[in-house]
Amino acid sequence: MVDLEGAGLRVLVIEDEESLRLALVDALVAEGFEVLEAADGRNGLELALREGPDVILLDLMLPGLDGFSVLRALREDRLEAAVLILSARGEEWDRVQGFEYGADDYLVKPFSMRELLMRVRAVLTRRAGRAPGVAEGGGRIRIGAATVDFAAYSIERDGTRTGLSRRELDLLRYFLAHENEALDRLRLLEDVWGPDESPTTRTIDQHVLKLRKKIEPEPENPRHLITVHGVGYRFQLRG
Ligand code: CA
Repeated sequence: MVDLEGAGLRVLVIEDEESLRLALVDALVAEGFEVLEAADGRNGLELALREGPDVILLDLMLPGLDGFSVLRALREDRLEAAVLILSARGEEWDRVQGFEYGADDYLVKPFSMRELLMRVRAVLTRRAGRAPGVAEGGGRIRIGAATVDFAAYSIERDGTRTGLSRRELDLLRYFLAHENEALDRLRLLEDVWGPDESPTTRTIDQHVLKLRKKIEPEPENPRHLITVHGVGYRFQLRG
């Protein structure tokens, strides 16, 4: 665990709605964070690349460059900041859910400052405690016919590139660090999702299904992400 009481941690707020932006800045400063702010996507991106904040709060509907484009550009630049999307309820929501280029978490407006601070702490804790393993922080690894690019949050198979969510990457890192071990679902929940969250074991199954579709040539007949009946999963690099 790191000391998450502000000190030295920097948060960049990219939000065009002034009253919300000011409220976010106030709440974060009160918690001891150093806060940077931008009112549009282009300035936000520039500030992010120049200052390298620890966390970015990113609104989606922004003048100029929208939040999705900002996030994509950040990840292409391999910026490792945790990104928390602030989304309005409505049509954006589907896009948020389908968006898999490395957002760490989503908050739907309106949210309370208490909820926001909780989520910021949670993403920071997750990053600090991320399971060490293969390709921490970047690099590529080949899993059968697929090549995973950790820094780019993507996977390539048969010439097709697919995005990977942060959680899918964390899970994959964990599997790689525990190759050939039968991992039960509760352990996966505890080690990959962490104590601050309460997903169900079904969450794990869903993530494994998604990973299989991206990695396995025949997802119904997996060679790498193997089901261990009554336990959970076993990962093998050479299927
Ligand atoms: Ca907005």
